[in-house]
Amino acid sequence: MNLNSHAVFALSVGMIFTHHIQLAVLMGIGAIIPDVDREYVFTKRRIFQKYQLHRALLHNVFFAAAVFTVNPYLGVGVTSHILLDTLTSPTDRGVELFFPLSRVVENMYLNLDGHKIGSKGVLWYLEDPVRLVAETADPGLKEVGKNAWRRVYGPFKNSRLADWEVFYSSLLFLLIYASTTYGLVNWIKSFLYYTFNVYLLFVLGIILFYGAGETWRRRLQTQGKAEPLILGMMVLGVLLVVYQGIQVYSPLKLDTTLLGEIAVSVLAGLLVAYIHVRLRVGDVIL
Ligand SMILES: [Zn+2]
Repeated sequence: MNLNSHAVFALSVGMIFTHHIQLAVLMGIGAIIPDVDREYVFTKRRIFQKYQLHRALLHNVFFAAAVFTVNPYLGVGVTSHILLDTLTSPTDRGVELFFPLSRVVENMYLNLDGHKIGSKGVLWYLEDPVRLVAETADPGLKEVGKNAWRRVYGPFKNSRLADWEVFYSSLLFLLIYASTTYGLVNWIKSFLYYTFNVYLLFVLGIILFYGAGETWRRRLQTQGKAEPLILGMMVLGVLLVVYQGIQVYSPLKLDTTLLGEIAVSVLAGLLVAYIHVRLRVGDVIL
């Protein structure tokens, strides 16, 4: 979905659950972060296309968990971004929720016509709809060859009805909610204060990074010009975000015993499930 939809949606969810403008602004900022994984000046489009990092590198449960450990409100924002993107179509490549683990399994059991094509090792059930992706995906997002189905797709297309509905409904909700609780002018004053004063470095960093990165990706990439300048602006943007990230560092108090119990259960459960499927079915299919 579009960045504005992500930001306003997370801001609304933040107001509903925290009733606190500062925390809601943090959630809105968190919701803007994942789309940093585009083919910016750091990589060539060809390499980016080969490794398919957009909607993978920063759109997965492990990145969301990592941000939660820095600040839970930023983490909720990242999570809301990832969930909304799972509703979008193969055009934008849905979301690769379990990247990088999803890259470990490469082969699939069935092709899209339902014919069995593999039975060695652990297999994904289906191949990715490569023809559909090749036909509809953005230039940098087309797959190079046939791949296992490791992404989550939904029915909605970016920048179309569902996307704009999320944006306008969230915006309207904020206007109504702010008017009936804080008074619209007071709410906007506080919102501007937190966005452009308290979290100014986050906002400046994000604007610098996306502004420079998108200008390069859409206009300058083919001409190969201005790379040092763009790179400098993007690095400065990242530094500002990291600097403010350190300032808002406020990790959840994690119960290490409980985390250990969860980790043991997940790993042992995986082993038992593997043996179960191997004995019952033969082919081990995800
Ligand atoms: Zn995204």
